Amino acid sequence: CGIVGFTGNNYQSAPILLKGLQKLEYRGYDSAGLYVADEANGTDQLVKENGRVSELVKLVSEKNVKGTAGIAHTRWATHGVPSVANAHPHVSADGRFYLVHNGVIENYAELKQNYLSDVQFASNTDTEVAVQMIDKFVKEGETTVNALKKLIALMDRNSAYGFLLMDREEPERMYVAKQKSPLLIGIGSDFNVVTSDAVAMLDQTHDFIELHDGEIAIVDPDNVQLFAANGDAISREAFHLDIDA
Ligand code: GLU
Repeated sequence: CGIVGFTGNNYQSAPILLKGLQKLEYRGYDSAGLYVADEANGTDQLVKENGRVSELVKLVSEKNVKGTAGIAHTRWATHGVPSVANAHPHVSADGRFYLVHNGVIENYAELKQNYLSDVQFASNTDTEVAVQMIDKFVKEGETTVNALKKLIALMDRNSAYGFLLMDREEPERMYVAKQKSPLLIGIGSDFNVVTSDAVAMLDQTHDFIELHDGEIAIVDPDNVQLFAANGDAISREAFHLDIDA
């Protein structure tokens, strides 16, 4: 339902992500979660909660979550009941990839059957199929961005997705993709953000790059790369959103 992501060299991402989720609460949701990575310490943490964002805030402070980059989600269940296990981020079986997703993967059951019959699943969501597929393709030798492209090509064209992905082996980087579900990249001076709704990140920036259907982006603290659906590198100016937070 709602997505936020943040990466910046000298920041704590968790409070920014939680504030972002609170700004997205008005859209409705049943559960929430975040994944935060800290490159300097080589640590990362996944925290999920069924119910209110305020409960997630408590849990994050109890667990003393630290890290400069992270992704977060408020879920509106479409596949799998509201529960901690079905809350996002979803994680690949080996703990390497973390994915938040807005939307629906129409052919997830078929993909699961055809590609992932040997994988142990932790949830009943369509989203977990996506993150397990990415992990499988990377294990077969693809780069992360090519694994994402391969997944996109295999999804039924009626599917909707806003994807925000992290790889614990690249703890400062976010991978982004979208189709029929909005995603914006927010540009900061020494950080960058990703959000499904500009409102969630207006405390951080008013400058956003709109991602179009089929495109992929790679977002680092000091750099944003955009790719067209055919893989060509493209550039797009940020627009300035002249509204108050
Ligand atoms: N289809 C996904 C799920 O049920 C994502 C739902 C959403 O957009 O929040 O977990």
